[in-house]
Amino acid sequence: MTMPAGTTLTDQFGRRIEYLRISVTDRCNFRCVYCMPEEGLAWLPKQDILSYEEITEIVGQLAPLGLRRLRITGGEPTIRPNLAALVRMLRDVPLIEDIALSTNGVRMTELAEPLVAAGLDRVNMSADSLRPDRIAAIARRNLPFDPIRSATAMERAGLAPIKINTVVMRGINDDEVEDFARLTLEHPWHVRFIELMPVGDMRSLTWEHVVPSEEILDRLSALGSLAADDGPARGIGPAKFYRVAGAPGTVGVITPMTHTYCGSCNRVRLTADGRLRTCLYGDHEVNLRDPLRAGADLVPLYVKALAEKPLEHHLLQMQVGGLRALSQVGG
Ligand code: SAM
Ligand code: SF4
Repeated sequence: MTMPAGTTLTDQFGRRIEYLRISVTDRCNFRCVYCMPEEGLAWLPKQDILSYEEITEIVGQLAPLGLRRLRITGGEPTIRPNLAALVRMLRDVPLIEDIALSTNGVRMTELAEPLVAAGLDRVNMSADSLRPDRIAAIARRNLPFDPIRSATAMERAGLAPIKINTVVMRGINDDEVEDFARLTLEHPWHVRFIELMPVGDMRSLTWEHVVPSEEILDRLSALGSLAADDGPARGIGPAKFYRVAGAPGTVGVITPMTHTYCGSCNRVRLTADGRLRTCLYGDHEVNLRDPLRAGADLVPLYVKALAEKPLEHHLLQMQVGGLRALSQVGG
């Protein structure tokens, strides 16, 4: 089944789907309290994981249907060997305009330059604290990670815009909201505060740890008057941005718990084992890996999956633990 290049597929609700998030591994060098259990996760067997060639083949088949932007994620994508090779292969796929990475930043001091050389455009880095002891306590791994050093290395390598994502947890790191926001007064970085979501196995966290975005914005107003802002020029995402007068960077909030973005959702996801997920939170997924390995045309499967993309998620009605962790579905 061939589609003319330049086609943009819409789902059953008329949403244009042009953004694919690709998980390249379910593994991670961190065990963030809100994402993974500390021990005992069963990893996908190696033969189940898509090779870089297979990922590139899937993107190559789907790009003519409207995919223009890719984000490489995980798990932690930078622990998969030679990630730059994948970036280079995806860069060569016709019609792909933008390649981004989501990372915990640990390896970015060494990887920023090779990834840029391979064609990476931009990066979102997670950082939940600026204090080494707290970083280790939240990540439950004691690896050398200095968010400012990693962000600076990324900026020097030419990645732009640089977005820093902070999951805000009451009583754990919510007293650092102002410190993170202050970074935007000195650097052209975009700090986005994310409401904690009740996904995966979060035994130590409860709904009381969720800090609503209104409360985060209240705290931010301590820095000065905040004006609504368009945010970084490149990259459209589900964040609302604000700028302190004169600041080179912006602050933003992502509010999966108190507001939904489903009406403007433009994305689908590919899990590390080759399943297409049309909604982050539902159970619905389509196996692309086995048909790909059998030499089948993926286009009809993709068209059908988009036709069934749900209208919205039902996070607010769910209980903690009722959903797969973001590390497993390519958050
Ligand atoms: N390892 C990379 C990282 O940490 O950025 C990429 C994968 S991670 C699953 C993607 C994003 O999901 C991160 O920004 C992380 O903070 C966020 N995330 C994971 N679990 C979350 C949760 N329960 N609530 C809110 N955000 C979550
Ligand atoms: Fe790893 Fe990212 Fe999940 Fe933290 S949020 S455990 S860094 S995948």
